[in-house]
Amino acid sequence: MIKQPPLEDAFGRTHTYLRVSVTDRCNYRCVYCMPEEGLNWVPRSELLRYEEIARIVKVMASMGINKVRITGGEPTIRTDIISLIGAIASIPGIDDVAMTTNGHTLAKLAPALRSAGLNRVNISIDSLQDARFSDLTRGGNLQRVLAGIEAALDAGLTPIKLNVVLLDGLNDDELFDFVEFCAPHAKDMELRFIEYMPFQERRFKTVPAERMRAQLRERYSFGSNPERGASDGPARTLRLADSGLKVGFISPLSEHFCATCNRLRLMANGHLRTCLAHEDTPSLRDLIRTEQSDTDIRIAVRDMVLGKPSGHDCQVDGGTLFEGVMTSIGG
Ligand code: SAM
Repeated sequence: MIKQPPLEDAFGRTHTYLRVSVTDRCNYRCVYCMPEEGLNWVPRSELLRYEEIARIVKVMASMGINKVRITGGEPTIRTDIISLIGAIASIPGIDDVAMTTNGHTLAKLAPALRSAGLNRVNISIDSLQDARFSDLTRGGNLQRVLAGIEAALDAGLTPIKLNVVLLDGLNDDELFDFVEFCAPHAKDMELRFIEYMPFQERRFKTVPAERMRAQLRERYSFGSNPERGASDGPARTLRLADSGLKVGFISPLSEHFCATCNRLRLMANGHLRTCLAHEDTPSLRDLIRTEQSDTDIRIAVRDMVLGKPSGHDCQVDGGTLFEGVMTSIGG
């Protein structure tokens, strides 16, 4: 495929990173993510098929996308996810394939995912207490996730990033527990605290990143300013002096990073999202299913990227809310 000019938007941001939500369905029901009864799932016929995902990734790789993260919903519950990983890892130009998962089935899948070409996993875990974990995920099993983390370490899906959404009054008392859990694995594991983002309504109170850092300062020493390194994605990170543990903060509300946003999201239904706060059309799935050419797909992608807003104005206590649901957009 002929190499195309990079995917630059109207504000000079070049896009190299694509998150792909392979399903909006999930085996957990995290309280801040979706209702207990689930959602109006995208009908299976409207989900992108694997060959459609691979084609879109290939077209986007020709435009400079070189990192892909597979997410959802829960990506590991989509049938034969291993074959999709293999297909994406073999696309010329894609040099990093990662996955975000709740870890529930990782104990079984980790070696095969690694062999298929997956480089790394991010694992979401919002409590280290069995009962609380089960409450926050509405039925999740902490011990299975811990076994999944072990398996991912053994398989070399590293560095593992443990993603923790801290919710004010619900699990923010576990901040130090997470540090102590990760510190012995500082070589292969990073800890990342994510600010709760309100989608459609504000149901929980966001813990701002600076409050988390102030709390960490009570017990640990680290350099004064968190930084953003090349491998940190949207996180600003700091390194704890004693253990060397890297701790990152994803703070889309209190310290948003829109000015450097290089990410695009391919939703489970084939729509591209250039920004969490902004719906884009047309659906790439519809273009593919009406037999449009790769050039047509490229034109559509470039138009959507050119229409990407400069940023969002959702804040800890105000501003507009994010549109849609995280699980079909791909968190
Ligand atoms: N099922 C996978 C998992 O649990 O990691 C992947 C999808 S999940 C939507 C991806 C990430 O988004 C998780 O770390 C989850 O905690 C985070 N997330 C979901 N809803 C969120 C929200 N409203 N605010 C902040 N993070 C959220």
